[in-house]
Amino acid sequence: MKSELPVIIECRCNEIAYRSDNSALPYSPKEIVREAVRAWEAGASIFHWHGRDSKTGKPCNDVELYLEVIQGIREQTDMLIHPTLGYITQNQIEDRVRHILAVNDNPVLRVDLAPVDFGSLNVDFWNPQEKQFVTYDQVYVNTRANLMAVLEVFQKYDVHVSSVCWDVGQMRTARCFQEMGLLPKNTLWEFVFTGEVMPAGAAPTISGLQAFIAEVPNDNQWLALCWNGDVMRVAAWAITLGGHVGIGLGDYHYSRFGKPHNGELVEMVAKMAYALDREVATPAQTREILNLPQQPQLPTQSAALV
Ligand code: ZN
Repeated sequence: MKSELPVIIECRCNEIAYRSDNSALPYSPKEIVREAVRAWEAGASIFHWHGRDSKTGKPCNDVELYLEVIQGIREQTDMLIHPTLGYITQNQIEDRVRHILAVNDNPVLRVDLAPVDFGSLNVDFWNPQEKQFVTYDQVYVNTRANLMAVLEVFQKYDVHVSSVCWDVGQMRTARCFQEMGLLPKNTLWEFVFTGEVMPAGAAPTISGLQAFIAEVPNDNQWLALCWNGDVMRVAAWAITLGGHVGIGLGDYHYSRFGKPHNGELVEMVAKMAYALDREVATPAQTREILNLPQQPQLPTQSAALV
């Protein structure tokens, strides 16, 4: 078993979830950095977050919010930085990549990975008690024209892409972009399972996981996460089958554990990995596994980060 690669754990700290039930859900840059440090200390090597208004928590893609978080994370950890591209209403390509490109020229602040969702999907919540959808018109749009435009920008500026797929069809779409030369042949595949309240992706079952794995090209790495659902069982299967895991309060509240913070969730996955006889990857190992450049040397004065 020890010949297997160590498990990469990605912390997904806030997404578009609200902290009505758990004050650890971070909004402000300081809160997001606090969760990053907790996650890093617990074994996460990749950090994913969404820019939020510090007071209301509403989605906010201001470049300054991202800069403050990246600077804070770089100062205190060696994690891989993996911010969102933005939100459902932001279909303008320039809006979705602005914060990524704003830091791209700075070797210290530039992001390590940028996620691309390889398709559109209906994202209305389902109310299982009332047997009704909460809304009937919410669509997360990613046309293939938009995908092509984003991939062209990232290729031009040498931004490494993680390939986020909500179903097997999106993996097939991504593989077409690989054939087109717009997506590298070696990419990190992120499989998005979804819980009962969000029947937009695959259900978190072992057969669903096997369907995703069947589409992964040789020697590519893959990671399983669950949006609006509990990832723990999928995590166990992913660890057993040689994959990696994404977890965080942004994806699911995990209230069955009380009010955990992101570090506590990461720690549960890390302990699960050890119990299943796999090590947990350090950020340096994660960069090596994913063929990404090593962490840039930080300047001695943090002021030089600006
Ligand atoms: Zn996200």
